[in-house]
Amino acid sequence: MVMSPGTYIRKRREAQGLSIDDVAGIVGTVPHLDRLGRVEWLCLLEADKVPITADVVACLAKAFPFDGAVLHALTEIHAGEDRSPPQLCRICACSDRLPCRDDILGLCTLIAPDLCNACPVDEPGEGAQPVGDEGDTAPEPDHSQGMAA
Ligand SMILES: [Zn+2]
Ligand SMILES: [Zn+2]
Repeated sequence: MVMSPGTYIRKRREAQGLSIDDVAGIVGTVPHLDRLGRVEWLCLLEADKVPITADVVACLAKAFPFDGAVLHALTEIHAGEDRSPPQLCRICACSDRLPCRDDILGLCTLIAPDLCNACPVDEPGEGAQPVGDEGDTAPEPDHSQGMAA
């Protein structure tokens, strides 16, 4: 399943820790729209209900980094064009041209076709074997580790 262009935009925004409202405050130049209108416009954009034109790309580029080539490819695929999808992390939507920067890891790399090494993998970790139920006290899951900052 190839990510839609709107989803790509949303994931790039979230990867920068920005809310829709934040972005609406940055992209102050969308013509004829007040801030509330911009919020609505961004929601529609992320829901793939607004065509992603060059103007839209230029506008969003002021707010957060994304890979224009990836966005273009996803837009074409979404429009039904038969081309190979770009390689993206399914969680943060980083790509090889636009890797995420992690304080510890440095620049990330894709460790799977759709996952980078800066993103937490939501899978049962090794060493966290559940104890058999031999009483009515369930073991407390340990949330103190493995949380990404
Ligand atoms: Zn990632
Ligand atoms: Zn990454």
